[in-house]
Amino acid sequence: MKQKGKAYLVGAGPGSPDLLTIRARHVLEKADVVLYDQLAGGVRDLLPKGSELIDCGKSGASHTMEQGEIERTMVEKALEGKRVVRLKGGDPFLFGRGGEELEALRAAGVPVELVPGVTSAIAVPGCVGIPVTHRSHASEVVILTGHEEPGKEESSLDWDLLAKFRGTIVILMGVKNLSSIASRLVARGKDPETPVAIIERGLDAGQRVTVGPLGKIGEIGKQAGVRPPAVIVIGGVVGLYREEDLCGAR
Ligand code: SAH
Repeated sequence: MKQKGKAYLVGAGPGSPDLLTIRARHVLEKADVVLYDQLAGGVRDLLPKGSELIDCGKSGASHTMEQGEIERTMVEKALEGKRVVRLKGGDPFLFGRGGEELEALRAAGVPVELVPGVTSAIAVPGCVGIPVTHRSHASEVVILTGHEEPGKEESSLDWDLLAKFRGTIVILMGVKNLSSIASRLVARGKDPETPVAIIERGLDAGQRVTVGPLGKIGEIGKQAGVRPPAVIVIGGVVGLYREEDLCGAR
């Protein structure tokens, strides 16, 4: 009888291979097919040599595989009886389109296992000494995508609410729109002195941290030539940042 295929939505963590879970390593070792996005060098070395490796290379406009094609390929290979691993940066269910892939797999009747990953939203600030919550600074945290143009008429983000929010704001994919995000928050009443940290290439050899007040961070980021990938943190917790490295897992 033909082996029943299965799909694994696997988090690769924020970059260092040391931060992959043990379950992710096990699942990768047994994979027949691995579909992966852009991965840090060290994680790429863990891809199993004997299996079919598909680079989905979804980097902005130069992406090589459409989302629909990725989903179709996963379904097709799993229905052929293969163990299909979809390896995604950080956690698969945080801005990784993992939810859509889950729906596609469910619709096709493919069994799915989720292997959660260490998300960059928490690990990248953490490794430069910024805890996203702290009893004296923030009892809540919101994680949002900065990919969306804030000027867009029908924003899916509630900017009034965000400007009033007293907790920590963590922004992924926010480098390009940082100036407009910051001005929008200030225009809606957020204190321009609120500290902001931009952590580029977290946990990587090229890691760099730029800090400044919300009212000036757009300009500061431009002057510094900040580039993606970066995690942006807005809030009092940024005051805990020190130029020390808390991460032993590079
Ligand atoms: N699912 C991922 C996030 C995918 S969105 C997770 O849980 O981490 C991709 C965004 O994540 C990037 O644009 C950047 O904002 C952030 N990111 C991921 N890895 C990063 C890293 N090592 N350093 C800085 N930012 C990172």
